[in-house]
Amino acid sequence: MSSIEILGLNAGYGERPVLQDLDLATQPGEFIAVLGPNGSGKTTLLKVLLGLLKPMAGSVLVDGTSPKPRNRVVGYIPQHRGFDRDLPIRGRDLVTLGLNGHKLGLLRASASERALVDRALDQVGALEYAEAPVGMLSGGEQQRLRIAQAILGEPSVLLCDEPLLALDPGRQSEVTRVIDQYRRTHNATVLFVTHEINPVLPYVDRILYFVEGRSVIGTPREVLTRETLSDLYDSPVEVVRVGERVIVLAGDEESHSELDGHHHHDHGEVPSPWI
Ligand code: ADP
Repeated sequence: MSSIEILGLNAGYGERPVLQDLDLATQPGEFIAVLGPNGSGKTTLLKVLLGLLKPMAGSVLVDGTSPKPRNRVVGYIPQHRGFDRDLPIRGRDLVTLGLNGHKLGLLRASASERALVDRALDQVGALEYAEAPVGMLSGGEQQRLRIAQAILGEPSVLLCDEPLLALDPGRQSEVTRVIDQYRRTHNATVLFVTHEINPVLPYVDRILYFVEGRSVIGTPREVLTRETLSDLYDSPVEVVRVGERVIVLAGDEESHSELDGHHHHDHGEVPSPWI
């Protein structure tokens, strides 16, 4: 059985769907990178799978059932945003919030819940800093806690919304490794939305590439080619390989700057070419 099964999906916000006629079937244990320029529909797909956006047409099944909010079979890792330095909660508390019914201020977990939280903290390598206030931790440490929170219920599908954003390269590969390890130990499907293909490329089985709501899916070798991407963009695209790295360059300057990714500039990094 497919872990995610989408047939003829149309989804969006106004009259005109953002995602048009999307078909997707994923297998347990697959690592799928979701690529595409800003505004191409990546987050819209995650919203549908999380049950936050109702399809306009088509059918969507996650682990055999229709998407719904608070679905235990789906885990969600958001983009990294730094916590307030003096936020008065510990790493362990943050993870405990992932348990159903726990609200801030109601953090007295039972022994079995504490064991569950400990196991998740252990899986992401966060036990040693679990008692520290979250605001004092590094971006990579905070992101591991978010992963621990997402995997508490042992989801069979893990949705990752640009979890590497604003992390330096060392932390990026650390966080990716933790996500990959969960996938392998739990035979989970990972959908990994990212602007940077290179940190995840060693783990990727297939790439789902969106441009303006249209998409292609296939192995990196199939998708990351000049022919496939020029077709998808409907304009010339170059794919350059530099050692192990893959760089996709759109032909005209306008779309190129769009592809640079809006977030890089915020963190004092040199904008890199698209993926
Ligand atoms: P991505 O995640 O690939 O950057 P999104 O799925 O967020 O793209 O957005 C796809 C399109 O839908 C964009 O044109 C965006 O402006 C539009 N969009 C996203 N969210 C909303 C919303 N809540 N209401 C109206 N339009 C939206």
